[in-house]
Amino acid sequence: MPSFEDARSTILEHVSVLPSEPVTALDALGRVLAADVVAPWDMPLWDNSAMDGYAVRAADAGAPGGLRVCGFIPAGGHSDDVVAPGTAAKILTGAPVPPGADAIVPVEETEERDGRVILKSPVRLGAHVRRRGEDIRAGETILARGTVVGPSEVSLLASFSRVAIPVVRRARVAILSTGDELVEPGEPLGPGKIYNSNALAVAAAVLQIGGEPVNLGIARDDKPSLRTLLTEGLRADALVTSAGVSMGDRDLVREVLQELSVRQVFWKVDIKPGRPTAFAVHGTKPVFSLPGNPVSTLLTFEQFVRPALLKMMGHRNLLRPLVRASFQEDFARKPGRVSFLRVRLERSNGGFLAWTSGNQETGILKTMLKADGIAVIPADWGSVGRGDLVDVQVLRSGVGAGEP
Ligand code: AMP
Ligand code: MG
Repeated sequence: MPSFEDARSTILEHVSVLPSEPVTALDALGRVLAADVVAPWDMPLWDNSAMDGYAVRAADAGAPGGLRVCGFIPAGGHSDDVVAPGTAAKILTGAPVPPGADAIVPVEETEERDGRVILKSPVRLGAHVRRRGEDIRAGETILARGTVVGPSEVSLLASFSRVAIPVVRRARVAILSTGDELVEPGEPLGPGKIYNSNALAVAAAVLQIGGEPVNLGIARDDKPSLRTLLTEGLRADALVTSAGVSMGDRDLVREVLQELSVRQVFWKVDIKPGRPTAFAVHGTKPVFSLPGNPVSTLLTFEQFVRPALLKMMGHRNLLRPLVRASFQEDFARKPGRVSFLRVRLERSNGGFLAWTSGNQETGILKTMLKADGIAVIPADWGSVGRGDLVDVQVLRSGVGAGEP
């Protein structure tokens, strides 16, 4: 049975980056560039005015009686007429600086009367002119392959008229719940039945990282049902199942996967909770069999599936930010397995304090809701006490640990 770290690195070694596809700049949001983007031209493309004002010759600044206003260049307009000595052209922000002019005087520093403009303060050569190429030079690599596209990247891509951006494909993730006790949300609940919450929970987690969930519904605890739906799931880029992987009589997922020539890599991990987590591959496709308990499903998705899907979608930053926190209570445990504790985090004197978010039994979903992070307790530790320094994976922003 692999340790936590070995299991995670084994999984990451088995998955590879998906092919790329061209998408619009907006559809590229949150996705990873599959190629460098090189500036096709200078930005800005021509000298232009940074202010509403007058385009002038700086040397004319002190001219008695001011300058004759010889033209008007609005945004979107342009003028080839030379601004001759003793004259000025009225200009709006963003408009090209006309030939002859070498400075812009903001309208606030002028007074216009009878077709003439008086400059009220000295004028510096080049003032308020945005120079051609001052932002970006043609040929410059402006975005490197591997960059995650955010609003600034979208802005840049749009400003260079890029309409087909090569990004790594989204992972299509087939999700299968298994169990005779499961009923889909919205359907009536019979005796002994529970709602299938895992499928939507996993779908939500997949969506959150930019993947594309494909919900296959519920397989019953019998081989034909599992065979049909697992076969369908193997057509996606990755398959995630929940439940049916423990030691119960009806835990048939592993067996049926093997019958479908899915190669088992490991079928247990030395962690708590989440021990019955299995990983297998079908060709190059990863198959994750997660435990069925909703807390264990979420936790094992977080530890194993999330980093794998991120890698497949081209991300380099695969893990949550880790902070070291001072534990603020006593938590009894025995050495043996790495364990994951759901914790609340608070900033204090530049460091972090951590408390469990409440009952850590795997049947308690409520404490998952309250968790800011997951404390990873090393296998060889005994009970955790007040003041012990623990590593915490930060799940949400707003606890001062940077954006997860
Ligand atoms: P199993 O591994 O099949 O024994 O399932 C472990 C526990 O998780 C059982 O209590 C199941 O009822 C529960 N469970 C399994 N699948 C789901 C699901 N899709 N949604 C919610 N709970 C589930
Ligand atoms: Mg079951």
